[in-house]
Amino acid sequence: MSINVEPLRKILELEHQKGYLDSAVIGGLDRFLCHWAGQAIDSLTTPRLLNYFHKLHLVNSNYASLTKQQRKQWVKAVLDFLAEVEPGEGERGEARLAPIASRLSSGAKGQRIMVNQSIDSPITVIRGISLSLAAKFNRLGVKTIRDLLYFFPHRHLDYSQRKSISQLTEGEEQTIIANVWQAQEIKLGGRRSTEAIVGDETGNVRVVWFNNPYLAKKLATNTRVVISGRVSLFNGRHVFESPEWELVGDEDLIHTGRLVPLYPLTRGLHPRQVRKLMKGVIDQWAWQVEDFLPSELRDGCNLLPLPSAISHAHYPEDEAMKAEARVRLAFDELFLLQLGVLSKKRDWQESQPGSPFTAKKPVLDTFLKSLLFELTPAQLRVLDELLADLQKPRPMSRLLQGEVGSGKTVVATAALLMAAANGYQGAFMAPTEILAEQHFTTVCQFLSRVGHQEGDEGYLHSYSGILSRPLTVALLIGDINLVRKQKLQQRILDGEIDIVIGTHALIQKGVEFHRLGLAVVDEQHRFGVTQRSALRQKGFNPHVLVMTATPIPRTLALTLYGDLDLSVIDQLPPGRQVVKTKWLKPGQRDSGYAFLRRQVASGRQAFIICPLVEESEAIQARAAITEYEHLSKEVFPDLRLGLLHGRMSAVEKDKVMRRFRSGELDILVSTPVVEVGIDVPNATVMLIESADRFGLSQLHQFRGRVGRGQEQSYCMLLAHSPSEVGRQRLDIIEKIQDGFQLAEEDLRLRGPGEFFGTRQSGLPDLKMAKLSDVPLLELARSEAIKLFQIDPSLDKPGHHLLAGELARVWPAKGAEWS
Ligand code: ADP
Ligand code: MG
Repeated sequence: MSINVEPLRKILELEHQKGYLDSAVIGGLDRFLCHWAGQAIDSLTTPRLLNYFHKLHLVNSNYASLTKQQRKQWVKAVLDFLAEVEPGEGERGEARLAPIASRLSSGAKGQRIMVNQSIDSPITVIRGISLSLAAKFNRLGVKTIRDLLYFFPHRHLDYSQRKSISQLTEGEEQTIIANVWQAQEIKLGGRRSTEAIVGDETGNVRVVWFNNPYLAKKLATNTRVVISGRVSLFNGRHVFESPEWELVGDEDLIHTGRLVPLYPLTRGLHPRQVRKLMKGVIDQWAWQVEDFLPSELRDGCNLLPLPSAISHAHYPEDEAMKAEARVRLAFDELFLLQLGVLSKKRDWQESQPGSPFTAKKPVLDTFLKSLLFELTPAQLRVLDELLADLQKPRPMSRLLQGEVGSGKTVVATAALLMAAANGYQGAFMAPTEILAEQHFTTVCQFLSRVGHQEGDEGYLHSYSGILSRPLTVALLIGDINLVRKQKLQQRILDGEIDIVIGTHALIQKGVEFHRLGLAVVDEQHRFGVTQRSALRQKGFNPHVLVMTATPIPRTLALTLYGDLDLSVIDQLPPGRQVVKTKWLKPGQRDSGYAFLRRQVASGRQAFIICPLVEESEAIQARAAITEYEHLSKEVFPDLRLGLLHGRMSAVEKDKVMRRFRSGELDILVSTPVVEVGIDVPNATVMLIESADRFGLSQLHQFRGRVGRGQEQSYCMLLAHSPSEVGRQRLDIIEKIQDGFQLAEEDLRLRGPGEFFGTRQSGLPDLKMAKLSDVPLLELARSEAIKLFQIDPSLDKPGHHLLAGELARVWPAKGAEWS
């Protein structure tokens, strides 16, 4: 059987004649094609033709959502295809098509090559992209045609408001279509410029382009132009000053009369050039992008087809289409992120068996009884959740969220003790050395209440009476001397150490364990999915507990940490008071100092956090030293001050911390980087300089350093001349105590990028998705879970494109170790 190409050819020709309005066939071209293609496919014999056929999406065509320009391109490509399918007819056909082909200007020759090119070809295959232009795009991260299609404008100018000249009003973005009466080069402010007078049936208006004499030649008298821009008043008359312009012709408008994209640029790339190029690329390529979403899912969620979403993200028909395009593209990002995270979790859980622990009730009970306090119901609940996980053969992957001061460390210690009681090693990792040291101190304090400390080699403590053998805890950080460090590492490898405490370098720098059974990671947001994978790939498949005091909104947590189960300590230990928070105006600085002094006089202690100068520790350290000297000499000469900054050695830091904790110091002056997690119950005042420059979550962390004892505590915020957002933050932190609520506000104010560097967490980039868009997050997540349940490895029919896309977005295993 051979295909009857005639009906389709006729329809396409008619479609061309009618101006690509999808009016050539009743019910629309897509419906016709669906029927036609279903029959035609059987008679295509060569793989090349089949391939060609699929590239054109004849079965699954999407003509209705293409722009006029895209339709033109597509019709041309299909006609070419038809000519190939029936070579005999083709000669006749091509002869007949010749007039059309000659009018379809761009890419007329390219169609045959197109079959061998794909959207993953380098951009140099595009006509008009030279090597040097490609180099400029490379600088923006654009290498392939796909990159170009996903090279979205950062915003659009709304030039869609078309007016007649008599309707023009000052100050607004407006568009006119007019005739050029006259255009000439003139001097404006001594510079060669262009002046034109254009008119429509309602009047004339003057247009000037500063510093651009060349336009005069392009705007011949009587040409039709579209002008978009702001109108100002000059000598009482309207004038367009350096507006966008283009000639009215056959082609779609690119720079005027519509929503016009503004692209990120780099040196040597110009807005008009990039827009024109992008328009061509989109018209030719966007509809060739294969939609990887299964169509039922796409339709069920009411999402635009991918080609159409890509087009409208660049050249939207209107605001509504632009919004729909964003939704589709954002959905893709979140959905793929979710699928990737889910499959990572499955890999971990299924690749190797974990190490199921047994409960060891007596050890645990003795430990809990030895504490100076009772666990809160929330701590007990979370501990139960952990213990249940630890007894399963599947390794635990759990995120523990808990407000500052909610008591996560003691819960983690109990879990580490379980590992040791089961003959496994435990690792406890913190983001900074000072925190690692503090965890070491805390864990040792807890353990010394149950057991008897035997050995103390500084960084290595050993306790008897807890397990049937001595329990050893070691601190492994950068600044112990090399010989001792190597000794420690050897003992870890030999399995002589039960609990190792250190920074993330513990796993990143390749410390070898004898039998790692549990890894606890504190402050997860610097420890992303990539690092977690790395941990899994260490030859063990340990239980992993990730702890964070940054209260991430639940949906966000489930998206970014979908590979983890979630536990929340949503309750503070009893007796914690609300930290009274006040934003002091610059004039109130002295009364703030006086207040601090009164607190110290009554036996309390205070923190003073120095301004956030720059991300450089050296510069921050210097600023802190200056501040410290000023405060010691001028403000509090009679009080005992200490200084803490990131440039001090661990020993020095430790010394200062010890002195502060033991009450030998009244005030600790500190840079912002070193404070997180420090615990001094007698401290009741937190004074933060340049408070407007910190994020809400960070301010909340600072504030959490006080109010840890029984005394009423205070947080004072100083700000010089806060920005609008800075003011909002200060207002909010004054009023809101709840960490989760603050995190939501923070997310709203700062946007997800800053709130949560997705880049450094090892997740795929989010260009379109806003993490504050909760409904879309939830939709993407529930769809991902649904799909994952029916086809986790994505090998069912209809899912192979999706599998390919997922593999593309998530780096392959092994490539993650960085
Ligand atoms: P975070 O969750 O911020 O890491 P910590 O674990 O540092 O909190 O606990 C804060 C303080 O509260 C510590 O001094 C700890 O000993 C104490 N603490 C923990 N749990 C309780 C509790 N149930 N009752 C009273 N104090 C507790
Ligand atoms: Mg902590």
